[in-house]
Amino acid sequence: MLIVQKYGGTSVANAERVFNVAKRVKSYYDEGNSVIVVVSAQGDTTDDLIEKAKEINDKPSKREMDVLLSTGEQISMSLLAMALEKLGAPVISLTGWQAGMLTNSNHGNARIKKIDSERILRELDQSKIVIVAGFQGINKYDDITTLGRGGSDTSAVALAAAVGADLCQIYTDVRGVFTTDPRIVPNASKLDDISFDEMVELASLGANVLHNRSVELAKKFNIELEVLSSLEYERGTIVKGVKQVEKMLVRGVARDNDVARITIKNLDDEPGAAFKLFSLLAKKNINVDIILQTLGSDGKQDISFTVPESSLESAVETLNDNLSEFGAEKILFDKNVSKVSIVGAGMASNPGVAAKMFEALYSANINILMISTSEIKISVLVEQSLAEAAVREIHDKFGLADL
Ligand code: ASP
Ligand code: MG
Repeated sequence: MLIVQKYGGTSVANAERVFNVAKRVKSYYDEGNSVIVVVSAQGDTTDDLIEKAKEINDKPSKREMDVLLSTGEQISMSLLAMALEKLGAPVISLTGWQAGMLTNSNHGNARIKKIDSERILRELDQSKIVIVAGFQGINKYDDITTLGRGGSDTSAVALAAAVGADLCQIYTDVRGVFTTDPRIVPNASKLDDISFDEMVELASLGANVLHNRSVELAKKFNIELEVLSSLEYERGTIVKGVKQVEKMLVRGVARDNDVARITIKNLDDEPGAAFKLFSLLAKKNINVDIILQTLGSDGKQDISFTVPESSLESAVETLNDNLSEFGAEKILFDKNVSKVSIVGAGMASNPGVAAKMFEALYSANINILMISTSEIKISVLVEQSLAEAAVREIHDKFGLADL
């Protein structure tokens, strides 16, 4: 079998863990498999590097940030290769560019355009274990790029697609995908399997197990993923196409604190207002999520929407520069909000689900600031200090504990 394994930062956090990973990799190799391993930076390395940059320059160019951040994965890949050498296994480590990871030039959040897997395949042919630095690639100018926080998952899935892997395992520090964050709800249940669509939603709603783009890619190329712990020997959660997935109305509850709400007061209520507003933000690559527009009166209306906290400053700046264009008065913003969402493919045809979620919030006296729904999810915006309580109430209400 051709296997791609990805190990996250906690799985390679120190020498002991690196050896632990090396042993597991070797055991797959010794069974006769071809193994490609994608690694993340050790522990908090990426955060530490960001801090280091700040000590020098609080607004470094994105290009140089990528040069810096890509070093984290380079440390892991070489250490893991050394551990495998020590265990007597033939191994080679490759950076993103050596591995042929070609991306666009959106530094800090680059997309993989193509993987030129020739070098990797050549090394596999020579019976080597190939370790690849996750999270990084190279653009057409030969500059180093990174894929966005958590991007190593995406490196792994893209590689699995490029080489036609039979199995793609994502090793992490939890046993799989849970019905909600076990740190918030200790008796949350591990799911045996989950569909791509549900996982895309959970991942992008802050479930923090998988990078959401990795799941989108897995769906696109129909690559079954297994999410499992590198610290145990136990089956994880299979993420796959929809067919045999167990039918449950609601599969999980997610919370996302990385949300800020922006409100634009009194902008012109006329055709094109929303277009002008949101195309400005799109040009700055700012992702807008929940949108709420009030009823217009006297030719004016308010629009509220949410953006990731990291985009808040840039969004507010852009909007303030263009306020007069919308005839708007002022911009308000609030970082102390969280998005709490339920996800489940089975909820589309079940009108009672939303009511049940709102009832859970009502019984905990939690006010809903904004609501958005799609076929397989319902999200509400609540005050950040109430978000964990909201998750607990909702998780409980849908009977997701101890499944
Ligand atoms: N090291 C990068 C990060 O911390 C990428 C990853 O871990 O997937 O975001
Ligand atoms: Mg991760």
